[in-house]
Amino acid sequence: MEEFVRGMPKIELHAHLNGSLTTNMLEELAETKFGLGSPECEFYKEKIADLRNFSSKNLSECFKIFKISHELITNLDLLKKATLLVIQKFHLDNTVYLEIRTTPKRCKEFTKLQYLETIIDSIKESQSTYPEITVKLLPSFDRARGILDAEETLEVISQLIGKFPNTIVGLDISGDPSAGCFKDYKPLLIKAKLLGLRLALHCAEIDGIEDETREMIEFGMDRMGHGTFIKDENLDLLKKNDICVECCLTSNIKCGTVKNYDDHHFNEMFFQHKIPVVICTDDCGVFDTDLSKEILYAVDTFGLDKFDLFNLCKLGIKYSFTSDETKAIITNRVSAYFQNCKF
Ligand code: 5GP
Repeated sequence: MEEFVRGMPKIELHAHLNGSLTTNMLEELAETKFGLGSPECEFYKEKIADLRNFSSKNLSECFKIFKISHELITNLDLLKKATLLVIQKFHLDNTVYLEIRTTPKRCKEFTKLQYLETIIDSIKESQSTYPEITVKLLPSFDRARGILDAEETLEVISQLIGKFPNTIVGLDISGDPSAGCFKDYKPLLIKAKLLGLRLALHCAEIDGIEDETREMIEFGMDRMGHGTFIKDENLDLLKKNDICVECCLTSNIKCGTVKNYDDHHFNEMFFQHKIPVVICTDDCGVFDTDLSKEILYAVDTFGLDKFDLFNLCKLGIKYSFTSDETKAIITNRVSAYFQNCKF
């Protein structure tokens, strides 16, 4: 099965750019930035070493791990390098369709506009280097950065979307779920929808926020990130509103929101409630995983067979934010792969 899953054309719908950088990639960025053997480089290498075998009992703690890449990527060359490394990693794992999300940032060396333009340029470049993988971009609002930062981000998106409507396809809300209130973001989300963006919102990642979860589902979204603590009426509402749930198994375990693979809500959602789900990596770099491994964890834990895998691929294509034409091309590739195997 491992060989089959590795070779399978895969669809990744939930991957954060900075979280997808592996510790080796972070080391490469530190070496490029500071020079091999320099005290600064050694300082970061020690911090990066601490990331190996990361796990936490508390989701809020987890957000600290992104600080390293945020501190390292301080110019556009490093940002481009990071983006290309991440796309290459997914390509080498036979991902044929990738939606990458990231929070636009600014610093001394770049503006948010330049941040997004550089990623779009890198995506374009990757399309000639790796024509087998189609890559799309979802800018993120980070709840911890607040509403003013989100407003600024939306303004930048509105400047770019006319030029790149086939690359910027959606919007993500992520960051510490205990920060801020969803309702404050609603006016911005309405504007984002008017710009033609699809919504993939982190939701129900922590327990005890049922009211906000209901408010988010009622507001509407195309896909939900995690949905770990969805229960009772919210589960019915999710199903009724045909929202696809992005399940990130290892991420949830390493961040302490799910105890172990056996307990992961993927099982209940996919098999029992027949809710559309996709298996995703979230932050494959810092959590030391890849899409094939995530699918294999689900195979080993829940006994998925090739028929289930085919269904999951079809769900990924259906709920992706790409054109019908691209969906048809990916469907043909996936179908061809499954036609050549015995069920
Ligand atoms: P970036 O946006 O800098 O490319 O990727 C890292 C950021 O993604 C983090 O700072 C955080 O805002 C967001 N992120 C990554 N993983 C998670 C997650 O599991 N849950 C939430 N809510 N946000 C996440």
